[in-house]
Amino acid sequence: MFVTNHVLAGAIIGRWYADRPVTAFLIGAGTHLAMDSVPHWGCDAEASGGPERFLRAARRDGLLGLAAAGGAVLAADRDCRVSTVTAICGSVLLDLDKPVEHFFDFSPFPAVVQWIHGAIQRESEGGMPMEVATGALLTAADAWMARRSRRRGRTGRRGRTDPRGRTGAGRHHLAMQSSSTGQSPATLPA
Ligand SMILES: [Zn+2]
Repeated sequence: MFVTNHVLAGAIIGRWYADRPVTAFLIGAGTHLAMDSVPHWGCDAEASGGPERFLRAARRDGLLGLAAAGGAVLAADRDCRVSTVTAICGSVLLDLDKPVEHFFDFSPFPAVVQWIHGAIQRESEGGMPMEVATGALLTAADAWMARRSRRRGRTGRRGRTDPRGRTGAGRHHLAMQSSSTGQSPATLPA
């Protein structure tokens, strides 16, 4: 799938796991595989003009993806900025193989990773509507989460906002409860 869509997914994951940048990175990497297994655009590199068409699309997608990543990091609230960066890095990591192979002529990943990444692809020339629809859906979801988080921030900054609906004060209350019952806060359900 287009790297831009992976970036947009990473922005959402970063907001969702605002206080867990490592988890955000891992979920981002996992989501990459899930998204690549959905039917999406791709062109036959062996066909006549295929490499040129692929490069043209990759160049545009790369620039758009960079702009989306920059915009997502700048738009992220301070409490989810680090996780937004790590989630986007995880989300796009597997697609680094293409530019590295193109510019440096080697694959940065072990053969088994490349094999899995290649085997799950469901590419076709007719997959462009799915790419566009996915991008629009992810952009709308990210904008909705950003607006919600900003509104929460305005209505009371008693603690850090959390897109899952808990405030910092709520988390503190849970921690107090757990310490009084002897249960570690880390074992509480998220
Ligand atoms: Zn991929």
